Amino acid sequence: NTDVELTGRTRVITVSNQKGGVGKTTTTVNLAAALADAGATVLVIDLDPQGNASTALGVPHTADTPSIYDVLIDEFPLADVIQTSPESPRLLCAPSTIHLAGAEIELVSQVAREHRLKTALDDYFDKGEGHLDFVIIDCPPSLGLLTINAFTAAGELLIPIQCEYYALEGLSQLLNTVRMIQKHLNPNLHLSTIMLTMYDGRTRLAQQVADEVREHFPREVLDSVIPRSVRVSEAPSFGQTVIAYDGQSAGAIAYREAAVELIRRDASGGEQEES
Ligand code: ADP
Ligand code: MG
Repeated sequence: NTDVELTGRTRVITVSNQKGGVGKTTTTVNLAAALADAGATVLVIDLDPQGNASTALGVPHTADTPSIYDVLIDEFPLADVIQTSPESPRLLCAPSTIHLAGAEIELVSQVAREHRLKTALDDYFDKGEGHLDFVIIDCPPSLGLLTINAFTAAGELLIPIQCEYYALEGLSQLLNTVRMIQKHLNPNLHLSTIMLTMYDGRTRLAQQVADEVREHFPREVLDSVIPRSVRVSEAPSFGQTVIAYDGQSAGAIAYREAAVELIRRDASGGEQEES
């Protein structure tokens, strides 16, 4: 339905920002659904104990559901916990359950604690479990071991930035952590994408924040901006992404544009700029 070409490579993208409520989960699920809509096969890994991404994708994640917790702690094969979202056969999810809340502490005493997710993904591909064009990881709002597992497994970092007060606050801490990860755990990780979200065109502030972020990160910021929209915020309560909930809404259109941009921008073209 769109004239985009997939590369055949798997791009592993972690959606991170240690601040809560900036749109990580919303970005993850709607971008994933939009990518699937554009023809990509997408796996969402829900690394947040709250399980909001699993909910939005309409995937069961009660305590007895095999989940990413079992993968990280008990070395379940990733393929054994993956579910398909009712929205699309190309939209997959490794859900989170409430057990993941304890994983942050349980991981501390585990062997190769930073590499657990990376190893699980490598095993998945080694066993030929199926091609994935994108793996998108929804991180919890902290820079703990779950997020570090995401950084170690990913090639790309996508930072959602809320077009509101304090948008850039905490960003230098996040980028310092990324540099540390690059040095010690994963030299391949780079900041490929910044996505401006919750944009309210009626306010001067939103425009100012957007300009400021573009000035700092001219290559990383996507042209598509996600508007603040009630349709976006109410979709999860129906267990849906906005793509399925209201595909003609401004939010859905913006996410579809962002997905096309993400596909067109080759990951290797977005090397990190020292900032
Ligand atoms: P995070 O995962 O970073 O904690 P969320 O994705 O859960 O953030 O978003 C925080 C809140 O903002 C949620 O209530 C969500 O519905 C709302 N929200 C996110 N993006 C938008 C948007 N574009 N328009 C309106 N509300 C949004
Ligand atoms: Mg979240």
